[in-house]
Amino acid sequence: MRRSFRFLLRPTSKQAAALAQCLEDHRQLYNAALEHRRTAYRKAGVSVRYGDQSAELKNIRADDAEGQGRWSFSSQQATLRRLDKAFSAFFMRVREGRTPGFPRFKGWGWFDTVEWPKDGDGCRWDSQPGHPTTTFVRLQGIGHVKVHHHRSVKGRVKTISAKREGSRWYVILSCDSVPAEPLPAAGAVAGIDLGVAWLVTTSDGGHVTNPRHLVTSADRLAAAQRDLAHKKRGSSRRGRAVARVAALHAKVRRQRLDCAHKAALTLVRDYDMIAHEALRIANMTKRAAPEPDGQGGYLANGASAKSGLNRSILDAGWGVFLTVLAHKAESAGRELIAVNPSSTSRTCARCGHSARENRVTQAEFVCMACGHTAHADVNAAINILRAGLALREAAGAA
Ligand SMILES: [Zn+2]
Repeated sequence: MRRSFRFLLRPTSKQAAALAQCLEDHRQLYNAALEHRRTAYRKAGVSVRYGDQSAELKNIRADDAEGQGRWSFSSQQATLRRLDKAFSAFFMRVREGRTPGFPRFKGWGWFDTVEWPKDGDGCRWDSQPGHPTTTFVRLQGIGHVKVHHHRSVKGRVKTISAKREGSRWYVILSCDSVPAEPLPAAGAVAGIDLGVAWLVTTSDGGHVTNPRHLVTSADRLAAAQRDLAHKKRGSSRRGRAVARVAALHAKVRRQRLDCAHKAALTLVRDYDMIAHEALRIANMTKRAAPEPDGQGGYLANGASAKSGLNRSILDAGWGVFLTVLAHKAESAGRELIAVNPSSTSRTCARCGHSARENRVTQAEFVCMACGHTAHADVNAAINILRAGLALREAAGAA
């Protein structure tokens, strides 16, 4: 099993400055490589590939020994690969007939991670194992940085990343061969419906709420984004507004992850099998496509009004939650089944009558055929459980 571990870093002020410089140089490398690809494509219709840019790295490092030359070659390759991924995704969406935005330059504050793709290559986890009380990670050009090592790392460390969130730095270890920790049988199964007011509603009628502090942060983030939209490009006020949005984004991500971990832990403890709706990201939030403002940004449109924006921030937690749930379920030896989400919310869980009119409001379900009434999310969760059990039976019979 693969799993990642994340720890707060406690750099000295000198190390913090070096980390910031390292991140900034990687951001500039990313932007320069993007510029290179754009120019080659526009002027000559040529596609620049990862291999070309990786080969060019040697010259860049030699020409800038005090700058780019300081950092790990492999970490720079990882940054170029990241750009390559952005382009692959772009071209895939073009092939699917969609109109994606061209990969964008990363502004200050929008590039937050440097990855070292292999432990031991320009980086070393637990670099001073003989130290009696403290764990360190060594990063090339930065030094041995103290780690707030609050739980043990399992498996074998593969990649090491440093990530900035606001004024904090984290180290993220991606490990493989992490042993599973199976839980005893719970003797129960459940379907779950994902929502905004409640993150999770189970077929038993249980709810896991989006905690108040996450909702508050989402409100603040939505307000900060609206505020940013009114600031003039290039102004210092805009710079501060961008930093504020980035800091709130980081906060929402932390709280969302924390909430997802707690909810997923409860579910895998209580149920042997959990059925959920397969997410279709494109359909998840039906909003008008934002209009480019001609300067690389987007104009606010009607759909990103107050409630919509906050809602979309909370919706974005579903993908994170399902990812965390999948990891925990695998580790605990629980079964997770994704079912087709069509009509689960408008079908009556008692008689099977399916009609749009059954869903009276967001929260209330009344069957037009048999009169069955239920909380709309619980009704949907029961349908999801039924679909999951049917899939499991079909798989067993095959
Ligand atoms: Zn009915």
